[in-house]
Amino acid sequence: MKTIVEPKQMQDLARKWRSEKKTVGFVPTMGALHKGHLELVRASRKENDATVVSIYVNPLQFGPREDYQQYPRTLEADLELLEKEKVRALFAPTNREMYPAGFSSRVEVSGSLVQGLCAPYRPGHFNGVATVVVKLLGAVQPTRLYLGQKDAQQAAVLKQVVRDLDLDVEPVICPIVREHDGLAMSSRNKRLTLAGRKVAPVLYKALKVGKSIVDLGQADAEKVLGEIKNVMAEERSVKLQYLEAVDAGTLAPVKEIKPGTMIAVAAYLDNVRLIDNIVI
Ligand code: AMP
Repeated sequence: MKTIVEPKQMQDLARKWRSEKKTVGFVPTMGALHKGHLELVRASRKENDATVVSIYVNPLQFGPREDYQQYPRTLEADLELLEKEKVRALFAPTNREMYPAGFSSRVEVSGSLVQGLCAPYRPGHFNGVATVVVKLLGAVQPTRLYLGQKDAQQAAVLKQVVRDLDLDVEPVICPIVREHDGLAMSSRNKRLTLAGRKVAPVLYKALKVGKSIVDLGQADAEKVLGEIKNVMAEERSVKLQYLEAVDAGTLAPVKEIKPGTMIAVAAYLDNVRLIDNIVI
């Protein structure tokens, strides 16, 4: 595996692959890799001649009171995992390469996709994500872009950006990978205390209770969300930020739950922000 820091060097490799008619799968990450990331890598390896993973903790997508400084960074362990997965290149730029002095462009996303869910609680977040991913795509120039359903709003936003800006890449969304107790894998899980880690699976447990009520015939979103809240309220350390039922495609809120509805949650536990979702 080649480790590349300079965007120009990444472009050189991308150009070489293109001239060899190779397809390239790209998995952007912020590192602290876990099995959720590795499943994206495996999907890419299956479908492409070469796979590139990026590791970059993007300051643009963190708010001033968010956990940019505390975000887990485990580069040595990440390198080892990616070597084992036979990734062809790791693109690991630093802030100097990504946002050199004088950097002054932004990708701005508007519309219904950034009205609800995480958007009101994380102003500027999705513009930061869109900006960095467009830059990363410019460096890697992949055939396919691998994203996780765990960050469903991010995936929806990036699909929109790819469409709107005519980016020549095919987004591929991969299912949520969970721990044995149902907790959605996340780099931030590393920041939970032991007690917090024990409680954290309640998010998915509550979403599943919601789904089972829907399966029994309850379609009223307010009632279903109420039941989910009751389950989460059993754990007093869980501070709910939002719980919403939305159309999985448009992310617009729905009153009636039906196939294609996504129920999404964000909550704080030990000051760590966790998100999860389930699609009916
Ligand atoms: P991150 O490093 O958290 O920015 O995530 C990088 C990519 O991995 C994003 O597309 C995430 O949606 C995806 N991802 C993170 N956790 C999971 C998970 N548990 N299951 C599936 N995909 C995930």
